Amino acid sequence: MARRKLVAGNWKMHGLAADLGEISAVSIAAETAGADVALCLPATLIERAVRAAPGFAIGGQDVHQSDKGAHTGCVSAAMLIDAGASLTIVGHSERREAQGESDADVKAKAESALLAGLSVILCVGESDAVREAGDAVSTVSSQLDSSLPRGDVASAGVPDRLAVAYEPIWAIGTGKVPSIADIGEMHAALRERLKAAYGEAGEGVRILYGGSVKATNAAEIFGVDDVDGALVGGASLKTSDFLPIVEAAR
Ligand code: PEP
Repeated sequence: MARRKLVAGNWKMHGLAADLGEISAVSIAAETAGADVALCLPATLIERAVRAAPGFAIGGQDVHQSDKGAHTGCVSAAMLIDAGASLTIVGHSERREAQGESDADVKAKAESALLAGLSVILCVGESDAVREAGDAVSTVSSQLDSSLPRGDVASAGVPDRLAVAYEPIWAIGTGKVPSIADIGEMHAALRERLKAAYGEAGEGVRILYGGSVKATNAAEIFGVDDVDGALVGGASLKTSDFLPIVEAAR
């Protein structure tokens, strides 16, 4: 099945008002790109980025599962939408590890975001030790099974508003990338899990690869079956690094 590619940048804890020019430059290039393009920004920058780049897809990097309440430092889906965001990442490994987020938390976050009307990029991925032990495919498959939003919640957003990002933890920010064969094996396995969860709608859910994607490796990675785009960290911060990756997704 042909799926339009999605290239999403994750700025993590980077970005000040001085960087808004980078965002508007990406948004202008995105108008004629052959792929969907988005930037997931720190919450503090979302509203100004939406003003600087009207119509461009700006996202958050996390969302709380509750609508509101005593959750110091967190943002709800309604708050992201209020700021002008149209999507959010959930379950990034840096949050799973540093904030102790479980698959159940990630599932609740994805459901809350989809119900509110956001698109969701749901991240899964294995550690170095799991890969070395030969358990990557089984571990990430069961992580996905436990993190996916319930079918009834997801139905309105599947396949259009839900994407999965396979991000091996050991490849994030390290310059290491799995072999093309390993990426293909994992994406094929995740496609099967999506079909098991959502039936034929699972065919339409985009599966992004993330972990040290750069201009020099993007085209080869995008050529793998069931790789429907990328989640890009470090190389999304500068337009000159990011736009060649977007270009490779044509
Ligand atoms: C990420 O953190 O989502 C990521 C893929 O980072 P990088 O591209 O820097 O490896």
